[in-house]
Amino acid sequence: MISLKDLKKKVKENGYKLTPQRKAILKVLIGHNKHFISAEDILKETIKIYPNLNITTIYRNLEILEDINMLHKTKDNNTALYCLICEESHHHHIICKICGKTEIIDFCPLKKFSDLVKEKNFILTDHKIELYGYCEDCKKDLNP
Ligand SMILES: [Zn+2]
Ligand SMILES: [Zn+2]
Ligand SMILES: [Zn+2]
Repeated sequence: MISLKDLKKKVKENGYKLTPQRKAILKVLIGHNKHFISAEDILKETIKIYPNLNITTIYRNLEILEDINMLHKTKDNNTALYCLICEESHHHHIICKICGKTEIIDFCPLKKFSDLVKEKNFILTDHKIELYGYCEDCKKDLNP
């Protein structure tokens, strides 16, 4: 699991200052390890320590963290959800549609895709695959 120390280092290596607000946001993200959460959720927790924080600041910080490759971002309807990147190497995630819990899926269908893309005379540069479902706890609530 990533520690706050590692995260601080990464922020600094990328030329950003670790402001108290940024640190508070990182702490919330660590606290929600293996869960995707919204900017609103992050605000709810950080505002307890920094009452002046607002949603714009949260989004601005999340954008920076995303730019320097520290966050996974996904969308639930129209809400963006965030989670700390768990490992540097390429991987995919299964995400619970109810609570945002996530696990790594260590399989990538890239090889097959690139063959099919080549057939269409395209060069494949990126891909993003997310799997959605219900986690063990939420599954129980679905079928009592
Ligand atoms: Zn990940
Ligand atoms: Zn769940
Ligand atoms: Zn992949």
